[in-house]
Formats: sequence, C-alpha cells, structure tokens
Amino acid sequence: MNEIEEIKQSALFLAVGDEDRIYCPFCRNDERSMKVTRYSTGIYYHCFRATCSNGRGFTGSLPSNLRAKEEKRFVPNVFTKETSDLSMIDIDFLYNKYKITGQEIEDNKISKIEGGFAFPLYNSAGYEWGIATKIMNPRPKQKKTILYRRAKTCGLHYAQPWKGDFTTVILTEGVLDAIKVNRIGQGVALSGTDLHTDQAGDLIAIGCKRLWICLDPDASHKAHKIRNTYGLFFEECKVFQLSADPKDLPFDQLVKELEI
Ligand SMILES: [Zn+2]
Repeated sequence: MNEIEEIKQSALFLAVGDEDRIYCPFCRNDERSMKVTRYSTGIYYHCFRATCSNGRGFTGSLPSNLRAKEEKRFVPNVFTKETSDLSMIDIDFLYNKYKITGQEIEDNKISKIEGGFAFPLYNSAGYEWGIATKIMNPRPKQKKTILYRRAKTCGLHYAQPWKGDFTTVILTEGVLDAIKVNRIGQGVALSGTDLHTDQAGDLIAIGCKRLWICLDPDASHKAHKIRNTYGLFFEECKVFQLSADPKDLPFDQLVKELEI
C-alpha cells in the first residue's frame, strides 16, 4: 500500500469537515504529526514536521458511493426560497449603492428581510449551508447576524453562479464583495479577515492555483498574513491594495485596480 492509500484508509470514515491526527506515512516518525481533514471529494493532509517534504497535499478520488452519501447528509439545504423575492425598489437600491445587477441578485438568491437583506451562503459544491444578513441602517450597537453551521463546513462562501472552475479565486471579506468580484474570477467570502487551515485546504482541494486576496483597505495586514501563511501552497498568491471595499468600487475601477 502506498502512502496516499494509507492516508485514505485512516481518514475514510471521518465525517465531511472533520479532522484527525494520524501517524505520517511519509516521514514515519512516532508522533501523530499529520493532520487530515475530510472533504467530500478527498482528504487534505498536512504533516507538521518541518523535515517532512512530501507530507502535504490532497488525495482526491474517494469511492463515489461514499461521496454522495456524505454530501447529502452533511450539507443541508437551510435556505428554502427558490428565487429572489426583492421588489423593484430593493433591486434599484442594490444597483445604485453597490452596482449589483438583477442577474446577480437572482443568481445569489438575495432576499429582503426587515431593515436589510439576507444572503444564502454556498460552499464549493454549490450547496447552501447558511445565511448571512446585512442590515442597511443599523441602530447603534446592532450587530449583523450570520446563521450557520460552522462545524460541518469549512465556512467559506462561494458566490454564484458557481462555474466549477476555481483556478482563480478572489478572496474577499463580505458576501457582497464576493458577488461583485465573481464577474472576474470565483469570488469567495471569508465572512471576516482570517483564512483558517481547513479553509485553505478547501481552496487547494477544489483546484485553486491563483489566490488573489482582496480584503478591505483597512485589513491590509490581515491580507499579508494570509499570503505569508499560505502563499507557498499556490502557484500565485497576490495581495491587492484596493482604494475601497470591493463592494463599494465601481466595476470599471475594480477591474483597473486588479490590473486585468
Ligand atoms: Zn511527515
């Protein structure tokens, strides 16, 4: 049995999203130095021994019957609306404020809630796994709420339409930012400013080669932290210092600042 097969065997019965520590089959030391994270399509593995040169990557290809079962079980559809239900006033508002088009509203099933909007969150398989909301006129100290099940997903939001091509991923903070940059490459929202190891693993697992980090201008140091931590896992990993939040930039300006 080769090393990849050993990893598959030891992590095959983990639930999707769960992780475990195992003995690394590459460096064969006597500690559980390898972290394995189970995805629906394979296992991401990472040995923490600095001297272990082969101990990180993605196994790919698990038995297809197992795959289908796990996805159905662990990625529930929590957002039941089929399409967007916004009025013309809401659609005009989103266009005037963020230049989000009617098609983008429809693709991302943006809904109206009291005082703001709700956004279904999608994982890399196109499943809805939670809801983010944005309150447009918050009262003092009112927080925006995000309802989700973080435990069984990696917590990244993939803007729609989901093209199935994740070669270029544009990482943003918010859902609206991700929707906006999705015209250029696959927009992925962090719902914050940190990229965790399992989230980075998800990006690698789905075939991301170019990671463009487009956080808000006030989070420049966080963007550089992401690049410094994960840059070596990607063929290209760039930080873009934008002049405003992606959602607030006119689209032409956004294209210009991304130097496309
Ligand atoms: Zn190792």
